[in-house]
Amino acid sequence: MTNREKYHFNDFTFANYQRLLQLALNMGFVFGDYSLDNSGRSKKEIVWRHNVEFSVHNALKMAIIEKELGIKAHYFFQIHSEFYNIFEKEIYLLAKEIVKSDHYIGLHFDAHFWEIQDQIELERCLFNDRNLLASLLGVEIKSFSYHNTTPQLLALNDTYYAGMLNVYAKLIREKYRYCTDSTGIWRYERLEDVLQDSSMQYLQVLTHDGMWQEEAMAPRQRVLGCVNLRAQKTMQYYDEYLLKVGQKNIDD
Ligand SMILES: [Zn+2]
Repeated sequence: MTNREKYHFNDFTFANYQRLLQLALNMGFVFGDYSLDNSGRSKKEIVWRHNVEFSVHNALKMAIIEKELGIKAHYFFQIHSEFYNIFEKEIYLLAKEIVKSDHYIGLHFDAHFWEIQDQIELERCLFNDRNLLASLLGVEIKSFSYHNTTPQLLALNDTYYAGMLNVYAKLIREKYRYCTDSTGIWRYERLEDVLQDSSMQYLQVLTHDGMWQEEAMAPRQRVLGCVNLRAQKTMQYYDEYLLKVGQKNIDD
């Protein structure tokens, strides 16, 4: 069996992404928020979260696909990413498009950046990062997810910190079955199978933008594509700026 078959490369295209969302709708799932109050709610509910990790360009493509299907998903942005800078004009404008698409917005929180050791530091840094993201995007941020979870981070599993819902809280993890494409492979079960499981009641799906592309390819190639595009954009900015101000652009 090739890696392409073993790791379902063909699952991770935008066309298939749309098909999976449609499958969820066909199976009767309602796309919800992270409410822990189950009274009067749908029997089959999905919370569909994006930890925006590699490419806000890709995240916006997914947000548009969802909006066209009438789906509200959750977009959790980083402010310390190694792959994108949300304070950069182009990226900021793309993130604002996602906000305008009426999706839920959260903070994808990097505890490693702050080298957090305890709950007091956690709450202080969450306040800080939440305020930065909220004022940049002009939205209220009501929930957060940990970036690159560790056992120590997952032990900080109260439902709320810094006034935000912790989507890795014990109560959330107990309520929802979990399906994720972390590192570009189905980490536990294949989403297509999970969606078709008629016994499924509450499901949390976590996707990572850069792991979904126009064409099927190996996960590392998907990330490389995002990184190369970013590098090209940076050079394009430099070249266009020199042209605009009439400076020589000496290349060899
Ligand atoms: Zn992350």
